[in-house]
Amino acid sequence: MKKFIIMLLFSALLLFLIPMHTQAATNQTKIILDGQELVLPNSVEVVNVRNNIMIPIRVVAENLEFNVNWDQKTQNVHIQQGSNAISLTVGKEEALVENNTVMLNIAPQMIKNTVVVPLRFVSEEMGLSVGWNNKDKIVTLSSNTSLPSEPSNGSEIEATTNIVHDINYANNQLIVSLDHEVTPVITTLQNPERIVVDFPSTNLGNMGQALSGGTMGRLDTSGSPNITDIRYSLFKNDPAQVRIVIELNNVSSVNYEQQTIAGNFILDLSMVNDPTPATPVSSGKKIVVIDPGHGGSDPGTISFTKKPEKIFALALGLKVQALLQKESGIEVIMTRETDIYPTRSERVKLANDLKADVFVSIHGNSVTAAPQITGTETYYYQRESSKELANLIHKRLIKAMGLADRGVKNGNYQVIRETEMAAALLEVGFLSNKSDEEAMMSETNQIKAAQAIVDGIKEYLKLEDSE
Ligand SMILES: [Zn+2]
Repeated sequence: MKKFIIMLLFSALLLFLIPMHTQAATNQTKIILDGQELVLPNSVEVVNVRNNIMIPIRVVAENLEFNVNWDQKTQNVHIQQGSNAISLTVGKEEALVENNTVMLNIAPQMIKNTVVVPLRFVSEEMGLSVGWNNKDKIVTLSSNTSLPSEPSNGSEIEATTNIVHDINYANNQLIVSLDHEVTPVITTLQNPERIVVDFPSTNLGNMGQALSGGTMGRLDTSGSPNITDIRYSLFKNDPAQVRIVIELNNVSSVNYEQQTIAGNFILDLSMVNDPTPATPVSSGKKIVVIDPGHGGSDPGTISFTKKPEKIFALALGLKVQALLQKESGIEVIMTRETDIYPTRSERVKLANDLKADVFVSIHGNSVTAAPQITGTETYYYQRESSKELANLIHKRLIKAMGLADRGVKNGNYQVIRETEMAAALLEVGFLSNKSDEEAMMSETNQIKAAQAIVDGIKEYLKLEDSE
């Protein structure tokens, strides 16, 4: 395999890669690395594809100063920085990180003869943390590399930057999904009454929901008469700090309860909203918890081509999440959005504490000893509501996947047994079967399956199409 060393041949290669008719206007998107704006060459376009910021590999090499090798023949991009190494291929959602296969949100693409790669993935794998301000189109990267210092008196502070993936408000609860557990600093202020929640060493991720009003985002609190406003922002840079402000209206005392489950920080504000118990209010939004099975240290089963189930479960789960986020009547909460392992009890507790309406766990089946076994199975546990949900999703999943119908079954699995709402566990197909695996790993099928799951959930919740 012949590799071109970008550092040497990059300029030559660029002659072919530079799009000939880029817009005369300069780039709208700014990239700020450690407080310094990167000066991108005029010809370089940063593009946003389905909420993923894609940057040309030229920016990766020249501006971020990572070592980049591009192999034209195999369309492979190898990026290295210190001990971090990733390998990406144009058109493939699978990437290699230190020889482990991981699934990308979006495959590298060839756009106008330029290879573009997902900025978030590349940056995070190279040890940078990433923030995105949608309004002003600003990407914030921070390296967090503290200056090498003399051994001090042992009072060094670990500065790992956490990422907020999602901020939701439903059923009187503020739910903040984070990369790692972090204890926020909560203060209350008066005139007007406010609860201020500060997450130290934390940055805003690309949350799929556009920030409005400068660097600030707002949540819909229309169902909560005692909450005037919930807004969030990247309050400080360097070190990053995310601030959420809950503005209250007409309350005699400010009460709340906090807890953290599976990386989700939950602030229960029901006491704030209860002074008028005679008129129970709800935002009218249904809470749907999507649970991509396994993750982190738990790979799940290993497929015919030796890929872990956790990758499939997350790839499909994130597609379901993206579709559900477009539904105005649904608040979607994920048990995981990255390759981490929340315990089954944590997943159950999250859904139960949120008083979710629907819980869907995503898995792939396996019988290694009988690789000929194929088909889709859907499980519920006893409850009628769960059985109905399972049936509604299953019949669509059969059509979407085109695999054998192995039926809807009662199954004694913890996540559907101990959850208290309509809960279904999907075994989308058999990863131990060659053609099932192919079907399950296909991007097209995953999109169809995600739509099938969403349509089943919507029918169960009796929600009309919102678009
Ligand atoms: Zn599983």
